[in-house]
Amino acid sequence: MIPVYTTIEDFEACHTTMRSAGSSIAFVPTLGALHRGHLALMQLAQTIADRVVVSIFVNPKQFNEPADLAKYPRPLQQDIHLLNQQGIDVLFLPNSHVIYPPDQKVGVDVDLSHLTTHLEGKHRPGHFDGVITVVHRLIDIIKPDFLVMGQKDFQQMTIIRAMIDALRLPVELIAHPTVREPDGLALSSRNARLTKEARKKANQIYRLLLQARDLKDRFTPRQVVTRCISDLDTTVFQLDYFDIVDIHTLHPISEWQDDDENLICVAAWLGNVRLIDNLVI
Ligand code: AMP
Repeated sequence: MIPVYTTIEDFEACHTTMRSAGSSIAFVPTLGALHRGHLALMQLAQTIADRVVVSIFVNPKQFNEPADLAKYPRPLQQDIHLLNQQGIDVLFLPNSHVIYPPDQKVGVDVDLSHLTTHLEGKHRPGHFDGVITVVHRLIDIIKPDFLVMGQKDFQQMTIIRAMIDALRLPVELIAHPTVREPDGLALSSRNARLTKEARKKANQIYRLLLQARDLKDRFTPRQVVTRCISDLDTTVFQLDYFDIVDIHTLHPISEWQDDDENLICVAAWLGNVRLIDNLVI
C-alpha cells in the first residue's frame, strides 16, 4: 500500500529517508480525480527519478468560482487505488490548514503579470495567484529534483517555469504532452460532468485546433483566429477565448513564428463545463 502523509512533519521524515538512500525525487502535483492524463505524467516521472511523490490537494485559492470548487470531484479511494496500481512511492494529502497555516503568511513575491493576466487569467481572476502560491508551497515542502506538469494547462506550465526561473528554485520542470480520448477530447477531471449529449460534441474543440493548424499555410494568424471563431457552433459552445500566441510570451502573434513556436489555445463552455485545450504548431 502506498504511504499517505497528511502532515509536513510526517512527509519530511519520509523525505529524509529517501534522500539518505540517495534517491532522486520527481513530484506530480494534482487536484485528484485522477485519469489517464495524470497517470501518464506519473509514468514519465518514474522514468526520470528514483522516487515519485504525488500530491492531491483541491486548492481553494485557485478556484475563482465557489460553485466550481464545490462541484470538483473527490474520489479519494479510487485515486489511491490508481496510485497503488501505478506503483507510486508516496502520496502527500494535505488539508487547507497544512498548506495555509492560519499563523503563517503563505505567498510568493514574484511578478509574473506579463504571463498571468490574459487568456485564462483574464477569465479566471486570481486563479494563477492561487496556482503560483500552492505550487511554490508544495515545492518547498516536497523539495523534488523534478516537477512534472502537463501541457494541457500550457499557460499554467509556462507560469510555473517562469516562477522557478525567477526564484532560481533548484527543481527542473518536465513537460508532458496532452493526453486525449480517442476522439481527440483532452482528458480532464471536469469531463465527467459532461452530459452524454455534450460529451458527443466536446471534441469539436480539438477539431477547431486542428482546423487552425491546417489553415496555417494559407492565412495569417489573425485571419485563422477570425475564421475559426466564426466556425465554432455557438448554439453548443460559449467561447471564452480562441487565440494564437507565441509559445514563450503567450501573447498574440500577427505573423507565424518558427515551427513549434506557435500555440493555438482555446477555452469554451459546453453547458456548465468549461473546457480548455491547446495545440503547439
Ligand atoms: P489537475 O489535477 O487538473 O490540476 O492536473 C494535474 C496535472 O496533470 C497538471 O500538470 C495538468 O496539466 C496535468 N494534466 C491534466 N490533464 C492532462 C491531460 N489530459 N494530459 C496531460 N496532462 C494533464
